[in-house]
Amino acid sequence: MRMAMFNINVTRLIALVKSTLGLAVALLLCACGNTLLTESSSSESSSGVEVRDLLVEKPVGAVKVEGTKVRFGDKASIAGTSLFWSNDGWGGERYYNADVVAWLKQDWNTGLVRASMGVEAEGGYIKSPASNKHKIKTVVEAAISHGLYVIIDWHSHHAEDHPSEAVDFFDKMARRYGGYNHVIYEIYNEPLNNVSWTDTIKPYAEAVIAAIRRHDPDNLIVVGTPQWSQLVEDAADDPITSTTNIAYALHFYAGTHGQDLRDEAIRAMNKGAALFVTEWGMVNASGDGDIALEETERWIQFFRDHNLSHVNWAVNDKVEGTSALKPGASVEGGWADDELTESGVYIKDLVSNW
Ligand code: MG
Repeated sequence: MRMAMFNINVTRLIALVKSTLGLAVALLLCACGNTLLTESSSSESSSGVEVRDLLVEKPVGAVKVEGTKVRFGDKASIAGTSLFWSNDGWGGERYYNADVVAWLKQDWNTGLVRASMGVEAEGGYIKSPASNKHKIKTVVEAAISHGLYVIIDWHSHHAEDHPSEAVDFFDKMARRYGGYNHVIYEIYNEPLNNVSWTDTIKPYAEAVIAAIRRHDPDNLIVVGTPQWSQLVEDAADDPITSTTNIAYALHFYAGTHGQDLRDEAIRAMNKGAALFVTEWGMVNASGDGDIALEETERWIQFFRDHNLSHVNWAVNDKVEGTSALKPGASVEGGWADDELTESGVYIKDLVSNW
């Protein structure tokens, strides 16, 4: 009984402290004259054009393709972390919040976060556009406010089946965020293995790129490549020339992919393609299995040798080898090292020290 009373009092005390802190933060923001951009403070005019509110920005250098390299301001490469599929009800969407972005910046020193918006499957953008767009915007705006690069990823394996939705989505994203150096557009996560670069992926990409470039002349656009973003030489043989600042996605899982894929990447770079490893893992291509440490270290040396930027999959607590978090890890960040998986511990160290 006494213990119960004590708990109630502590709960009330915490609530009081929280409400006092909330008021103090609100007063501070008013005093600074800044308006944080939130879903409720954004608006659309009668013409459907979004009105961009003032967003508190911590600036970063522009992302620029120079030859076959992608530079991030004065950095030759960066290391980042990807969130899991954003789909409603899949679990990973719980980590799409500003607290997690802040923690990845402050505690992991991550250079980039990737917002992986699920498209076709249950709970994805096609069936639930508002909730998925809201999650992406939450992460993008937190990244901009913390001085982090952020990838807006159309996390699809069938993007050519609904190009109009992709065009509309990226039109809105570019109109809203095209003025921020932080934002990178990844317009097709992973085409499947039987999809033609020239006949299918490239025409899709050119349509989406045209929509982006109507509003944003310069931010980096990353295009996926056939066979789950492995056949980068296909893109190098028939590159996109309708605009500049284009890179091609190279994805791998060290438990499955090794020297053959690195050779493919070298051939593509030798033909002039700029590559960006927007997704990789230490385990099998299924996302599960044991960590392949030796092959992971060969890949990391490859990153260093070629100034390749890279983004690990995934900040999530699903029970599988490539998750960085153990089941039940807080959805607000603040993770102790014993809440990280074996992969999570390794990736935090890699990213922190890149
Ligand atoms: Mg721009």
